[in-house]
Amino acid sequence: MIVRVAAAFLLACFAVPPAMTTVFAGSGRPQQAAMIGQNHALSRRAIRRDVPLTNAIVRAMEAGTRDFSGRPGPSYWQLQTDFTIDVRLDPATQTISGEETILVHNNSPSELTEIVLRLDHNIFRATVPRGSSVPAETTEGMVVTRIAVNGQEVDFDAPARGGRGRRGGRGNAPPRLAARGLDQTVAVVTLATPIAPRSTATLEIAWHTKLPGGPDGRGHRMTQRWDDTLFQPTQWFPRLAKYDDLRGWDTNVYLGPAEFYNNFGRFDVRIDVPAGWIVSGTGVLQNPEEVLTATARERLARALDTDDITTIVDADEVGPGRSTADGDRLVWHFVADMVNDFAWATAENFVWQVTRANIPGAGYIPIHMVFLPERANLFENAGPISRHALEFYSDLWAPYPFPQLTLQDGPSAGMEYPMVINSNRGAADHEVGHQWWPMMVGTNETWYGWMDEGFNQYMNILSGAHWRDLEPDLDGHGQRYGAVSGDESEPSMMWAANYGGAMYGFQTYSKTPLMLSMLGGIVGDEEVQRAIREYTEVWSFKHPSPWDYVFFMSNALEEDLGWFWYYWLWTTESVDGSIEDVTRSGSRTTVTVRQAGEMPSPVILEVQFADAGAAIQAMPNAEMVADTTAVVTWPVEVWFDGSRTFEAVLDFGGRAIEKITLDPGGRFPDGDPSDNVWPRDDGRPAAGR
Ligand SMILES: [Zn+2]
Repeated sequence: MIVRVAAAFLLACFAVPPAMTTVFAGSGRPQQAAMIGQNHALSRRAIRRDVPLTNAIVRAMEAGTRDFSGRPGPSYWQLQTDFTIDVRLDPATQTISGEETILVHNNSPSELTEIVLRLDHNIFRATVPRGSSVPAETTEGMVVTRIAVNGQEVDFDAPARGGRGRRGGRGNAPPRLAARGLDQTVAVVTLATPIAPRSTATLEIAWHTKLPGGPDGRGHRMTQRWDDTLFQPTQWFPRLAKYDDLRGWDTNVYLGPAEFYNNFGRFDVRIDVPAGWIVSGTGVLQNPEEVLTATARERLARALDTDDITTIVDADEVGPGRSTADGDRLVWHFVADMVNDFAWATAENFVWQVTRANIPGAGYIPIHMVFLPERANLFENAGPISRHALEFYSDLWAPYPFPQLTLQDGPSAGMEYPMVINSNRGAADHEVGHQWWPMMVGTNETWYGWMDEGFNQYMNILSGAHWRDLEPDLDGHGQRYGAVSGDESEPSMMWAANYGGAMYGFQTYSKTPLMLSMLGGIVGDEEVQRAIREYTEVWSFKHPSPWDYVFFMSNALEEDLGWFWYYWLWTTESVDGSIEDVTRSGSRTTVTVRQAGEMPSPVILEVQFADAGAAIQAMPNAEMVADTTAVVTWPVEVWFDGSRTFEAVLDFGGRAIEKITLDPGGRFPDGDPSDNVWPRDDGRPAAGR
């Protein structure tokens, strides 16, 4: 009663509040009505209907590289990096030593006055910043011993100054070829001669790095070997950072939990290991006749003939001449045409098995599995799970674009790389999902983890249901966000995931399926998936930003969803709907719906009629979903005038109404769904009567 009187009062006199008091509105949220402060329950709300445009996206739009269509703009560009790498593993010192040549295609319209390198293995040094990851072993990190740019050697003893980049311009000294930060995860090479727009440059780098091992690593990639018998190198080579139209060089440091934002390009990699060690990795093995036994080659040739598991190298086939070709050391040569990373693994006693997946347009491709014989139980069913994931996600979004998939055993069991997942059956479905993002759609996980892990969590729900022969059920997910909203440690999804803090996991992984559940509650789940399918096609092997995603989705769904993206991505607000009142007048029933939160939503009421009585008449915005059940929908626009209550008028004729449920699908964030039904489950009438 207090609420209604005060609301009427406030509407009449706007900002002049009623007597100082605290009341509880329908959702249970305390509503402070103070002389100075936030008159939450009683005030009108300002609903934002567009998304913030930061300087980065405004710059890109001005340059024509991105626009409100959500598709790559007419001037869109991205760098390409082609790697040629020779790497040698020394099991005795647990160290890999490599030499690489990076062919940098500067497809940007700018000259590059500096080059930014990512040296992820420096996270194993004791003196670099880290997130929640703890390496199993402190090492001297990625020790870079040589850098040459277009054949010119970088003098490591020369101070890095005089570069023409923003950071290098101290004093008036001429720009010189120098490097700084080689002991950090992000290093900078200043150039004496800039790399011209739309030209190429060659970067030669030599380095070595010890792969960390031991019992105390925490976080993926933080343990990369078991003793000196299995090695699982990841993020193991110096790479060129992203240089893009949004921010220029990506200088976000590598802290452990979030890692992906890489250039696409070709990888040509030669891996030198002791004979007898089996090597798996990204790409296609180029020289099976040099490194495999004739028996293994013969088994491989037949592996795509069956869905069954084919063993290529068995547990009792160990050592030079038995697991591999004979010799002292062997060089395994892999090539991958268009990928954004390269991972590999090797062990002396890997079991190697193969099954297959059927990819639309490509036919059968191999699924390789390499694991230690004593861990075979962890790989039981891993083949069928991976096959299902590859085939299901190919149908859902876009055909799997790569020629093979490999599951690698090791201490890091839940990581993704192009064509490679470091996973047994446990995380196989999820890690296969990453082949679509970020391996195919190259999103920036370090900033916007939700476009990577979050989309993946959503598709895993669909895949999981399909695996069990169930219809996917996204009901309830969106509503559950109401229980989280208001936690002040929650970063918004647009807050850089690298600095997500304690709720990084929620921000990056868990919240996106809730958001997409609500979107499905507005436009239908199939429509959401159709729009994401089109987004996948448009942005394959490119780098969409969040703005591209939201503009693309709004266009594909033909709906102005600015308000939706704003509240989900830029805020931590919820809807907090309730049925406040129900009154009847003749055949008309008026349902007073309240939204106590800042996020609006459509109003969806499920109306349950009595079994018998007068005919149920049609309403234009109602759909009969059963003989005595209707669902009535009002669009979100009913809230855009700022009011917190909406009078939903039901006019179905004389049939008695037994029950009304707000948001019956549980799609809209609500901290207390118990007040969404009339009459209340506890027998109380709705508030205000
Ligand atoms: Zn993941």
